[in-house]
Amino acid sequence: MNILIFGPNGGGKGTQGKIIKDKYGMAHIESGAIFRDNISKGTELGAKAKSFIDKGELVPDEITIPMILDRLKQDDCQKGWLLDGFPRNKNQSEKLDEALKAASMDLDIVVELILDRELAKNRIMGRRICQTDNNHPNNIYIDAIKPNGDICRVCGGELKTRSDDQDESAISKRHNIYYDTDTGTLAAAYYFKDKGEVKYVTLDGTPGVKEVSEELLSKLQ
Ligand code: AMP
Repeated sequence: MNILIFGPNGGGKGTQGKIIKDKYGMAHIESGAIFRDNISKGTELGAKAKSFIDKGELVPDEITIPMILDRLKQDDCQKGWLLDGFPRNKNQSEKLDEALKAASMDLDIVVELILDRELAKNRIMGRRICQTDNNHPNNIYIDAIKPNGDICRVCGGELKTRSDDQDESAISKRHNIYYDTDTGTLAAAYYFKDKGEVKYVTLDGTPGVKEVSEELLSKLQ
């Protein structure tokens, strides 16, 4: 099964993405995580991406699109993939659509998590990253995954904030891009919705992680 998941930054798509991945065993490809990994390893790609990420801007399509299309060719993607954070604008959707058709690969489901902008902002600022495993969910604004004081609720590891998560002007820029229905990320999602070739699932991202994941998994059946 091949899936795209959309949701505002801070909307819980990373958390829900991991739940889908664990259930269906597909490759979980997070564009933001690939960039962060490259930045921490000091690669050329990371150096090119960093200034855009710090400002809350999109990394240019010339860098991002080939990076993701190459990733989809890797072996672990043959049994299905979940793309999280890509496509992020209409051009990326068009290029992804073309590449999938050229590779005779089907897109099966598009998921759109719907969340109010103010709530998404609070959730971004509340996010805490476990230094032992960045998949451990911790957020001071979400009761179900509140950290244990200032340590990870899963393993007791040290928690940090992401540098681009505490800058309100960068968050605002990221949300301007997300909620833009002309050329931004919602336009990227609606590109597939309007074509009507795939199952398009919407769900309210406001409730807790468990409620959202139950609804999501039932809608993926
Ligand atoms: P995320 O972890 O999804 O919030 O992504 C962090 C940052 O990585 C974003 O604010 C962008 O600067 C960059 N990024 C992630 N995905 C993309 C994409 N599809 N296109 C361009 N930039 C991206």
